[in-house]
Amino acid sequence: MDWKLARDSVLDLLLPRTCCGCGRRLAVTERYLCPRCVVQLNRVIDWDWSTNRRIIFWREHQALQRMGAFAYFKRGGLVANIIHHLKYFGQPELGVWIGRLAASELEDSGLFDGIDVLIPIPLTRRRQWHRGFNQAERIAAGIGEKLHIPVDEKVLKRLYNRESQTHFTLQQRLTNARHVFGLRKGAEEKLTGKHVMIIDDVMTTGTTMLGAVEAMEAVSDVKISTFTWSWVHLPDKLITEYAAVPEA
Ligand SMILES: [Zn+2]
Repeated sequence: MDWKLARDSVLDLLLPRTCCGCGRRLAVTERYLCPRCVVQLNRVIDWDWSTNRRIIFWREHQALQRMGAFAYFKRGGLVANIIHHLKYFGQPELGVWIGRLAASELEDSGLFDGIDVLIPIPLTRRRQWHRGFNQAERIAAGIGEKLHIPVDEKVLKRLYNRESQTHFTLQQRLTNARHVFGLRKGAEEKLTGKHVMIIDDVMTTGTTMLGAVEAMEAVSDVKISTFTWSWVHLPDKLITEYAAVPEA
């Protein structure tokens, strides 16, 4: 008799677990997402760095190598449900699980090849304190565990706590992004000549990631790639806005 399975079955009766994508009850052997939701995840297929529309607009950042994502984020959709569970339902292990899922599917894609270290985007101190964990760090942990890449949380720091900037224009956001992150002491020596990958859970306009990339560019001879577990479809309107933003 499988005692672990027996124990899990009893636990399941007492505390039924549900799929964080669709809310249906999970089978004893399932974790976090039901198989149907795993299949239905809207996977990103156009992250190839030669055709990625995002990277085209960031091309002045010469250290930037690749930008990848696993799934498309759509408000109210499956991926949004997962991220919501991760951030607000106190489930740090879900972050590790989805990180591992993405890493195992993208292992042979070349996206993670040659990456020396994974660097999660830090939360503001206040948010980290409220949440108790950083979801980007948990996703990085899952990827690192699967692909044997170390995670370093002690590289980037937030320079100051900013309030939400959703009412800002893209131009204002891009300008603000330049002053959001800095490098911690010792980061430059540690990362010189390395290929780093910055990790986050969601990318919308990309300004947060851009801020992190710009902070990282201070390291000499560094190569930078980014991976967000999900990102939104880049709307044409935003592409036009990006194109209209004068270069710094
Ligand atoms: Zn489901």
